[in-house]
Amino acid sequence: MFYRLRNNFRLSIITMLGVSAILGITPFAVYRFAEGNTLAGVVDSIIMLSISAFMVYAWVTGDTRRSGFCMALIACSGGAAVAFVLDTIGLFWLYPCFVTSFFLTSPRVAVFINFGTLLVLMYFGIGFESAEYMLSFATTAVVVSACAYIFALRNETQRRRLEQLATLDPLTGVKNRRAMEEELKAAAATYNRNGLSYALAILDLDHFKRINDEFGHAVGDEVLIDCVNLIAHNTRQADQLFRFGGEEFVLLLPGVDDEGMRSVMDNLHATLRRSLKSPAGPVTASYGLALLRPGENADRWLERADEALYLAKDSGRDQIKVAPANA
Ligand code: GH3
Ligand code: MG
Ligand code: MG
Repeated sequence: MFYRLRNNFRLSIITMLGVSAILGITPFAVYRFAEGNTLAGVVDSIIMLSISAFMVYAWVTGDTRRSGFCMALIACSGGAAVAFVLDTIGLFWLYPCFVTSFFLTSPRVAVFINFGTLLVLMYFGIGFESAEYMLSFATTAVVVSACAYIFALRNETQRRRLEQLATLDPLTGVKNRRAMEEELKAAAATYNRNGLSYALAILDLDHFKRINDEFGHAVGDEVLIDCVNLIAHNTRQADQLFRFGGEEFVLLLPGVDDEGMRSVMDNLHATLRRSLKSPAGPVTASYGLALLRPGENADRWLERADEALYLAKDSGRDQIKVAPANA
């Protein structure tokens, strides 16, 4: 539970808002009922219950995108409803709602939700004692939203940049080994849950060291980039390529059976052999393939593909070997 909270920023904000809604709104709901303001009590209870429900939904399904959006919408429209029932005092609730919108959903969507709420309030004159009140509220709400927008945008850009640094290989631009480990685990989990088959191919360029030794590292780099481009152009959108190590790549193929895996990889083998070149001539590769087996974990799956690759190297390189299903 703490792991999920630490690693999922939006889930932690959703939880914070959900818990705050329960702890912060419940006393007000009780107080409104006690003072006989049933309508305000009902509004408070609806806001509190629906925010709590979306918090539970986020924890159960992991869908923080949808629940974040719904919570931002509920918080802002709930704030407007409170202002409608309680007049000016209800408007104060909207400031924290406007700020949290930016943590719950994307900056652009948050702007729409906040400004939509503001326009509804202004159009119907909800909670404003005079035009001066309305203008003051609108100005401060815009300033608060603008500050939160800039902060959220900066945060988003930095998060994306960090994610790229952590998951992409700087030379070729494909995903790195760390991202591969995550994807293989996810594939194994998907297969065990709903039976979508997956194949995995490890590809290792043959005698790559010679290219570096003869022509220099920069030429070796060019060959690696060409190799990635060729694979990208000759595989499906759903297939994922990772740089596993120096001149080793892993290709994850979803939704293929044994026959499909062999035919895709035969084609790729022929294409690379035909088109991948260094100044010394064609560059070949060796391939180890493994189809994911029922109940198998990602480590064992990768290990089987690696064993097949070693067999391909041992058998003279420039060929494909498939890991036996029952090994
Ligand atoms: P084999 O057919 O057995 O795979 O032989 P090989 O020469 O391809 O394999 P080996 O493991 O002996 O050498 C791999 C070489 O890949 C050694 C290393 O210098 C080179 N290499 C690793 N990363 C990079 C890189 O980012 N750029 C370049 N240019 N070379 C790299
Ligand atoms: Mg090699
Ligand atoms: Mg190697």
